[in-house]
Amino acid sequence: MTTFIEKPAAGSSTRTGDGQFKRLRRLRMTEAFRSMVRETELSRNDFIYPLFVVPGKKVRNEIKSMPGVYQLSIDETVKECAEVKTLGIPAVILFGIPEFKDEVGSSAYDEEGIIQMAIRAIKREVPELVVITDVCLCEYTSTGHCGIVRGNEIVNDDSVDLLAKEALTHAQAGADLIAPSDMFDGRVRAIRQILDENDFLNIPIMSYAAKYASGFYGPFRDAAESTPKFGDRRSHQMDPANSDEALREVEQDIIEGADIVMVKPALPYLDIVRLVKDKFAMPTAAYNVSGEYSMIKAAGRNGWIDEQRVMMETLTSIRRAGADLILTYFAKDAARLLR
Ligand SMILES: [Zn+2]
Repeated sequence: MTTFIEKPAAGSSTRTGDGQFKRLRRLRMTEAFRSMVRETELSRNDFIYPLFVVPGKKVRNEIKSMPGVYQLSIDETVKECAEVKTLGIPAVILFGIPEFKDEVGSSAYDEEGIIQMAIRAIKREVPELVVITDVCLCEYTSTGHCGIVRGNEIVNDDSVDLLAKEALTHAQAGADLIAPSDMFDGRVRAIRQILDENDFLNIPIMSYAAKYASGFYGPFRDAAESTPKFGDRRSHQMDPANSDEALREVEQDIIEGADIVMVKPALPYLDIVRLVKDKFAMPTAAYNVSGEYSMIKAAGRNGWIDEQRVMMETLTSIRRAGADLILTYFAKDAARLLR
């Protein structure tokens, strides 16, 4: 980069030339200048909108801890998807709340399961919308854990087999992109393998690659009804104190076949987003999680902050950190402002 400091003209008000300081404010003086030199632009194309699908008809339950976010039955989900598409948001990610739960999460890989039926309904009515499916077992197991529990252990390999089965039924129902969120070892490889064996060669995988054991997921668990009945998720999700480990996790998922890698949550982990983007130069997603959303909503409702402004600033910070895609409950609100 060339730095040029001009010689001050006689009587000039600039003091740049004498080496004391540079007038960086010049390019901030008008909105025209500010927009000309803006480095990060938010676009509706970067958003993925999460949806919670529940059994029933005409169901629209607002989630108490997430104002403006609803559990929706399939018919309402389809309506929501049409609106999302109209707003210019390209993709949704689906989370399912099943009719019943058992120890092996069998509703997760049932061809007539809630997500499988939702995918078919959305694809019928809003075919251009990209349908991403979250692949995990925690919404479907009676234990609320992401896999099978034996003794005190959430077992890895047998759980991975079930996740692969779940992913296959999503692909068969018409999902466009599969997003495993469990954080078990080897699951990207297993899912890639089962998709390929069944001729779904062109369905990409977005892995929740660096997913931390975070307190910011609280409201989501109300929404997805997936709170563990005992214990926690620290034996598979990452310790918030680690960043080298995040790079090992991401590298492993890329080796196993991930097409997009995700960091979750976003805001307390923007340093991780930047590290991942710089190191791997992969399409990178960040999940602006429920707690991040609810804190802004709550403070906005109390009049403590300007909600819209803080929302746009937050989303911009995630893009600036290096995320290409943002999973966010703000997608619709932000898309309206960006129109
Ligand atoms: Zn899970």
